[in-house]
Amino acid sequence: MDINLKGQTAIITGSSTGLGKACAIGLGREGMNVVVNYHNSDQEAHQTAAEIEKVGGKAIVVQADVSKEDDVAKLFAECDKAFGHLDLLVANAGLQADAAFTEMTLKQWNTVINVDLTGQFLCCREAARIFRKQGVHEHGKSAGKIICMSSVHDEIAWSGHVNYAAAKGGVKMMMESMAQELAADKIRVNSISPGAIRTDINKNAWETPEAMEDLLKLIPYGRIGEGDDVANLCAFLASDLSDYITGATIYIDGGMMLYPGFRYGG
Ligand code: NAD
Repeated sequence: MDINLKGQTAIITGSSTGLGKACAIGLGREGMNVVVNYHNSDQEAHQTAAEIEKVGGKAIVVQADVSKEDDVAKLFAECDKAFGHLDLLVANAGLQADAAFTEMTLKQWNTVINVDLTGQFLCCREAARIFRKQGVHEHGKSAGKIICMSSVHDEIAWSGHVNYAAAKGGVKMMMESMAQELAADKIRVNSISPGAIRTDINKNAWETPEAMEDLLKLIPYGRIGEGDDVANLCAFLASDLSDYITGATIYIDGGMMLYPGFRYGG
């Protein structure tokens, strides 16, 4: 089995840190060209690009706010200028703005919906337009692949995070509807839905021994996830090894979706 991604081009949004960075380096290791997108952290984005080059990929860095239509157009135009081709979008950028429901401001609601849901819509739409125009090409069996970074909270309700859960629930139906609509164009669309993976977004859930102990009660497999766990799945979904998979949500969560409270019976 050969993953065979060499020479293909990916845009990964929000890839200066966390899961986006892990996926970017993982795909770089397979010889891909990677567009590292960042919002604020210029230095970290260049660090990611340097690591991609070190492991054998090519990289450019592009600043863009995924919630802004003009920025998204610029992101895809820069990719075209540098590599002349697109094979994969990983719509990964996301954030949280947590509050108790009755205290949640409209700004907190809009910030999360704009980045985590509308930002994915804008990037997926741009990618789909390009894939449709390109058609099936020498790089593989499909015209292009889209991976949406969702969350176990596209399924598990999350008190104190209603905006985030609503955005990820929206991503699930957006992804499935896109997959249905774009399959005839040989465009594959899937979601990766992580449980708890060690990144800055959820630092308070793992940085002290007490927090980690509480977290592990939710994870039957007994460990927190690491960026490479997600990067490996990303490479599989990007490759023709998964050519017959579209419209799927793959939960990568050490069993968090298995109602862990029931594991001792009762
Ligand atoms: P992270 O905070 O390290 O990464 C998020 C990235 O998105 C950052 O680099 C940030 O700068 C970028 N970003 C934020 N707003 C942006 C914007 N407007 N435009 C462009 N980029 C923007 O956290 P992470 O854990 O790596 O999160 C990545 C994705 O994974 C998110 O969509 C998150 O919801 C999802 N996720 C993470 C976990 C986890 O356990 N870490 C679990 C489920 C889902």
